Amino acid sequence: MRYLSTRGHPDRKRFCEILLEGLAPDGGLYLPEHYPQVDTATLARWRRLPYAELAFEILSLYVDDIPPADLRALCARTYTAEVFGTPEIVPLKRLEDGLYLEALSNGPTLAFKDMAMQLLGNLFEYELGRRGEQLNILGATSGDTGSAAEYAMRGKQGVRVFMTSPDGRMSPFQQAQMFSLLDANIHNLAIRGVFDDCQDIVKAVSNDLAFKRRYRIGTVNSINWARLLAQVVYYFAGWFQATTADDQRVSFTVPSGNFGNVCAGHVARMMGLPIERLVVATNENDVLDEFFRTGIYRVRPGAETHETSSPSMDISKASNFERFVFDLLGRDGERTRALFADALPRDGRFVLSADPAFAQAATRYGFASGRSTHADRLATIRDTWQRLGTMVDTHTADGLKVAREQLQPGIPMLVLETALPVKFAATIVEALGREPQRPAKYDGIEALPRRVTVLPADVQQVKAYIAAHCA
Ligand SMILES: *Cc1c(COP(=O)(O)O)cnc(C)c1O
Repeated sequence: MRYLSTRGHPDRKRFCEILLEGLAPDGGLYLPEHYPQVDTATLARWRRLPYAELAFEILSLYVDDIPPADLRALCARTYTAEVFGTPEIVPLKRLEDGLYLEALSNGPTLAFKDMAMQLLGNLFEYELGRRGEQLNILGATSGDTGSAAEYAMRGKQGVRVFMTSPDGRMSPFQQAQMFSLLDANIHNLAIRGVFDDCQDIVKAVSNDLAFKRRYRIGTVNSINWARLLAQVVYYFAGWFQATTADDQRVSFTVPSGNFGNVCAGHVARMMGLPIERLVVATNENDVLDEFFRTGIYRVRPGAETHETSSPSMDISKASNFERFVFDLLGRDGERTRALFADALPRDGRFVLSADPAFAQAATRYGFASGRSTHADRLATIRDTWQRLGTMVDTHTADGLKVAREQLQPGIPMLVLETALPVKFAATIVEALGREPQRPAKYDGIEALPRRVTVLPADVQQVKAYIAAHCA
């Protein structure tokens, strides 16, 4: 399998070449040259596989530069009941007739990002070891991504993590989760500022190419193809649990921000997994809902980005969206480049409303969408708790609200549970008047010793910290 850029660059690369890279050289995103097809006989064979074996089978279709025995061992080491809480790894829970929750949030940081990041940690360690190289991961987080990255990379050979976060602005549970990591290769940098300051610092450091090369700076952001590929697996695993026949169709609703999670669903569907609809659920930051309703993709300026009670979906542009648009436009790299490299920076938007391709987003690719507000979130959390006895987090509540609008008779709807309620306690208390449930192993986490360095929002000081802590 070779990988190409969504912006038409002629280079073709292999999996391990793009594993440690971000964007393609022309600023595009990497995608496989084609989507391997999975027929009903293969689905029938995969139905009985444990999650780690299923992951190995799917990854094998996209990874041909890691020996199969090594890839199988990496999957087996990643997807264990010990790390993810159950032998099913992503157990399906029936809420009511036709409506299910697929639990993706029982990994170490209680959000779905662990599903991909845990594999990435093992892949990074493996590939860096093979090359005899080191990597220093620099990131900015408002919560879920940073902690998932730290828990995936802690103690790994050849990797250090420098994670900036806005000082005092993450939820108390998220702060406790990140800052209680005492591993020598994990560095928490609390920046006196907001999330945008953290992101600006990361950008400034990455734009200093000499510094970047000297200190071998890399990232783990959501455009990484390996992350997306790891997420494809749980669409298959969810489908197996919801069906008995190998041609039965199901739909998925996905609480969405950067379009990484639902883009993995798109890949699964392109491979032939019988998915009827892929429903994109947004919060008040409805860039994606607007596109799927109108064909207009309008990125928001920072001032128009709302701070909501489902904060991991608070985005102004969806960094993985270009992958889907590339497929939607018949894989026309030149057109994709014109939209994302010319029109968007110039006009802040592009419009496909009148393009015949836009109608196919729904008819051919199965996409639908909806949005949810703070009031919807509270009502859904309350209803799901009082009537169905299940406590859901704010992001999952956005998914449930939108899923109900898209139910079709005879087609099971699987809502992806993207985090556990304990991560967003304040809104749970607002909705239910009680504290969220907390898995036993997180009891008392707030009282653990912490390792965090507070720095001003200053690029030079962050660089100095990195330089002082890279051997
Ligand atoms: C990251 C995240 C999302 C959004 O996922 P995308 O892949 O960015 O669309 C939704 N919910 C939670 C809890 C998250 O952490």
